[in-house]
Amino acid sequence: MRILVVEDEQAMAQSLQAGLEAEGFAVDVAPDGQQGLWLAGEVAYDAIILDLMLPKVNGFVLCRTLRERDDWTPVLMLTAKDGHLDEAEGLDTGADDYLTKPFSFVVLLARLRALLRRRSRARPTILSSGDLHLDPATHEVRRGTNEIKLTAREFSILEFLMRESGNVVSKAKIMEHVWDFSFDGDPNIVEVYIRSLRTKIDIPFNRRSIGTIRGAGYKMASNGG
Ligand code: CA
Repeated sequence: MRILVVEDEQAMAQSLQAGLEAEGFAVDVAPDGQQGLWLAGEVAYDAIILDLMLPKVNGFVLCRTLRERDDWTPVLMLTAKDGHLDEAEGLDTGADDYLTKPFSFVVLLARLRALLRRRSRARPTILSSGDLHLDPATHEVRRGTNEIKLTAREFSILEFLMRESGNVVSKAKIMEHVWDFSFDGDPNIVEVYIRSLRTKIDIPFNRRSIGTIRGAGYKMASNGG
């Protein structure tokens, strides 16, 4: 899952980025509203964490502009405690939720996960494909009753494949959702991760849940393979 953080306070932006990356998210940071708006137009983010008071373009205007563009990426707005936001105003501009500073990272994470779940009604808390189960909140993956240990990156790729279960997903799409802009390596790195995922979730169980669609990408079998 790829997240955009639009925040001008550098310390706050850095701690959000570090915290979210530790949870397996890919994170881009924009230091002002103008860059935020530009990035949001360039990249298909899974969610945006948006500070209200920003240089150049403030959070209200940014959010309203996105919605006018018909961009419904979930937005979690951050507001200052002594700020002049009332809830109705924030939600009126099209934000999906808001959080008052200072907040605990744990609360932010819970709100963010709730937004990502809500994004599509059919999205259950635990993702399942047959007997393969993935819990985005606890980072647990199971094949039947067997617990499987994945690295943060493997987990992130599997989560994305499972959310898109039954659809063909290109390497580029995986890159876009799982890596951030600081990565400019070879897209074939995706193959390396797919291989290592298969050795953990498929081969020991004699399954083939991650199919290769030649020239197009990968497809997660919705029945678990
Ligand atoms: Ca600010």
